[in-house]
Amino acid sequence: MRGLLAYIDGREQEMLAFLEQIVNMDSGTLDKAGIDRLGSFLAERLETLGFAVERARQTQYGDHVIGRKAGSGSRSILFVGHIDTVFSSGTAAVRPFRIDGGRAYGPGVLDMKGGVATLIFALDALKATGHPSYEQVGMTVIFNTDEEVGSPSSRELIEAEARKAQTACVFEPARPGGEYVIARKGVGRYRVEVKGRAAHAGVQPEQGRSAVLELAHKIIALHALNDFSRGTTVNVGVIRGGDRSNVVAAEASGDIDVRVRTLAEAQRLEASFQEIAGSCALPDTTTTITGRLGRGPMEQTPQARRLFEKVQEIGRGLKLELKGIATGGGSDGNLTAQHTPTVDGMGPQGSEAHSDREFIEVATLVERVKVTALILASWPETIAQIG
Ligand SMILES: [Zn+2]
Repeated sequence: MRGLLAYIDGREQEMLAFLEQIVNMDSGTLDKAGIDRLGSFLAERLETLGFAVERARQTQYGDHVIGRKAGSGSRSILFVGHIDTVFSSGTAAVRPFRIDGGRAYGPGVLDMKGGVATLIFALDALKATGHPSYEQVGMTVIFNTDEEVGSPSSRELIEAEARKAQTACVFEPARPGGEYVIARKGVGRYRVEVKGRAAHAGVQPEQGRSAVLELAHKIIALHALNDFSRGTTVNVGVIRGGDRSNVVAAEASGDIDVRVRTLAEAQRLEASFQEIAGSCALPDTTTTITGRLGRGPMEQTPQARRLFEKVQEIGRGLKLELKGIATGGGSDGNLTAQHTPTVDGMGPQGSEAHSDREFIEVATLVERVKVTALILASWPETIAQIG
């Protein structure tokens, strides 16, 4: 193990050079050419590491890169990292990778090219030092290209691979305090639509049934479902209705964002939505509420808890106190966690994601590579323990 850690310590400059290279390759979600260039670069790297690489071809988004390496047993671990960023083509030329005061800056350095570098160098360390786990453990790597828009084209792939794996590690950034992510809320988008009856607002207002007024009642009822103590949030964030002030509005609608910690809570909310839709404050209006939970919640199952305890034990061996945190934001960890115990937030620590101030703490890159390498090194025992 000491050999493994010393090897990683000796690779810091190489890691930073690699990170510089991938940060300086623009890969905004809609920049297919840019992402495919980065995908090819990473595919080559995976091949060097002994992976067989496939591509899931896409027309709209970049091709997803899938690397597979069979182990000697039937069990396998899944590594997921998205290679798209929220920055458009040309950004890296304007503000390329740079290091200043122990922090590294550049588009996507935190979210999540730092995580991609963490994974690559952890794999490299096990291979280069000839660690037996590298041959024993079956490994699948997915570099997907559309996470920043909700993984519409990679979702099925990620879920299918998660179903086959006994553990998933997702390389989203650590939280600002260095925490791993052990739970994420499920996120749903719904729409409330109200139909009333139009009428002249001055001449025959009594003939009208205002959809706008009915929507107002619905919004109050929907917001009453907020329960911060359970982590449940319901927000009607956009409303539309009517088109002239002298007409009683025939139609109105609103867009609803929902966040829940558990699937049970999502079901409870959906039942309440149907009750709210079915009761009208204003007679002769009709309301429908449609939508669904896009990414289910990442709940910490007992197995996932034991997995994270193992990660913490690895941290203590490195004199790191690793904490886990729950967050309201979604990631591909929400998808894998539906099927297999998942640790997310495996990437380096930093802050200000999705902004031009985004950075990582350089020192945490080596730390995270060590933790990842040790998770993989000890995984055959871990998986026997957590069941
Ligand atoms: Zn991300």
